[in-house]
Amino acid sequence: MEENLQQFAQTYAQGLWIASGIFAALALFRLVLVIKTKSQRAWIFKAKADFFVIGLKVFFGLGLIAFLADIPVWFLSVAQFRSVAPALPLSVLIFVLAWLSVQEIILCFTVSYTLIHQFIKRILFFLVSIFCGSSFILAAFIVPGTFLYPPQDSTIELQMPVKGTWLAANAGHQKWVNYHNNFPPQAFAIDMVKLNEAGRFFENEGIDSSDFFSFGDSVFAPASGYVYQLADGFPTQQIYKGVDSINPAGNFIQIHFGLNQYLFLAHLQAGSLQVAKGDSVQAGQFLALAGNSGNTSFPHVHIHIQDKPVLNDSLAKGLPFVFKGIERKRYLGWEKPAYPFLLRNDKFRN
Ligand SMILES: [Zn+2]
Repeated sequence: MEENLQQFAQTYAQGLWIASGIFAALALFRLVLVIKTKSQRAWIFKAKADFFVIGLKVFFGLGLIAFLADIPVWFLSVAQFRSVAPALPLSVLIFVLAWLSVQEIILCFTVSYTLIHQFIKRILFFLVSIFCGSSFILAAFIVPGTFLYPPQDSTIELQMPVKGTWLAANAGHQKWVNYHNNFPPQAFAIDMVKLNEAGRFFENEGIDSSDFFSFGDSVFAPASGYVYQLADGFPTQQIYKGVDSINPAGNFIQIHFGLNQYLFLAHLQAGSLQVAKGDSVQAGQFLALAGNSGNTSFPHVHIHIQDKPVLNDSLAKGLPFVFKGIERKRYLGWEKPAYPFLLRNDKFRN
């Protein structure tokens, strides 16, 4: 089967519309049912509910509040499909889930007499509440964890190595927003893809490297130092077929720019490298063109800093870094944050 990013995008969009439809139907069904059975329902304090029901209602309600906190973090930062899926169905699903949650939170203040008296309903509500409780665990770890980053004074400041508006496809300090975190030397690596004005990172069907706006874009030195190592001559991979576990970085430039600081720029285009081993480079200097070489799904620029020179040395540690002076768009508008560390799905520009 031919991998086709445009088809992925359509499949995600369909899935999101279907999920939105199901949850909207559920929310409406609940609303209609509650209105129709209004006479069999009362405020929980007036209904003389027992402690089992009150306890579950409190637990269920808190679980829903946790779920409400999970929704934006999960769908906007953690979800890898966000960069591919169209924004409209994703926004609709977030709205529908939030609507359903808020509606159910309000209903937690009421109780139906059948819940107080029917054994089956009590068991069912118990099971639903336990299931809902899992959102506590998600909220407890994912929500605060997603935004964790080492303190600013221990973070290296770089110049943004590309121009225009880019998206962090992988970034952050946790595995769930940055798969690089599975490899300690790459713990803080960022995969960057260039966006067009419409916020998309590819055009046409996304089956050719040239469909991607990153491909062939200029990459500049993020810091002043000297070229410690480089590789050139690796071919441009096919989309979603770039498996090169022996030379995962493909064509890369490694800059030694500070004590125990080795910076990698990877997946560059063969023949585009403007520097040689041992050259000194100035921050902002044009280095090469972005490409799709090595272990890569589609054209992007990979950047990370490690404290030892050999790529993926098992004793090496990844070092946190930011691009100074950038504007960042995380959830709503563009901002110029004082501490501009990036998470997956953040947009940034210089
Ligand atoms: Zn990467």
